[in-house]
Amino acid sequence: MKAEKKKRIVKTIRVDVDKCNGCRACEVVCSAFHASPKYSSNNPERSRIRVIHEPLRDIYVPVYAGEYSAAECAGRDKYTIDGKDYDECAFCRASCPSRPLFTEPDSGLPLKCDVCESDPPLDEPMCVQWCLNDALVYEEREEEVEEEAATREELETGLESLANKYGMQKMLDTVARISKKG
Ligand code: SF4
Ligand code: SF4
Repeated sequence: MKAEKKKRIVKTIRVDVDKCNGCRACEVVCSAFHASPKYSSNNPERSRIRVIHEPLRDIYVPVYAGEYSAAECAGRDKYTIDGKDYDECAFCRASCPSRPLFTEPDSGLPLKCDVCESDPPLDEPMCVQWCLNDALVYEEREEEVEEEAATREELETGLESLANKYGMQKMLDTVARISKKG
């Protein structure tokens, strides 16, 4: 039987490193948007985007928080930009045990960019709105995927956004309570 196809919106943020001046407005607004209650505080260490500074060449590279990795990876990426080698972990998006980046400072939980998933949805993610230099540009495109994969992704996005809003433990407790009722 042929698998059913479903349309999904792929959200991307294009990063133009040449336009970034290191103002860090993206870090400030991301942490404020995800604070609980919203906008009650701001702390770049809680941001899902971090701006990496390379002092010798004075360049700034915005990096988005990606997947959580429970262990340090065995393979690493090496970047050479304009002939200069960068630290192997410098531009990695993962939250992992080998460095403090993309880890919530109080709880130690990993941070991941959720493209500002919210209800009602935003026209554009907050960091894009606040980047006055247009170093961050939001783009959407439509793709066809198998229905099962699309449903799984929707479910994961929904659960991640609930975990961000209420905390992972509260969400797990609620799921456990609901399943007992069933
Ligand atoms: S807001 Fe834009 S220009 Fe400022 S640090 Fe972030 S990406 Fe760079
Ligand atoms: S898209 Fe939203 S969650 Fe992701 S880094 Fe930007 S402000 Fe933070």
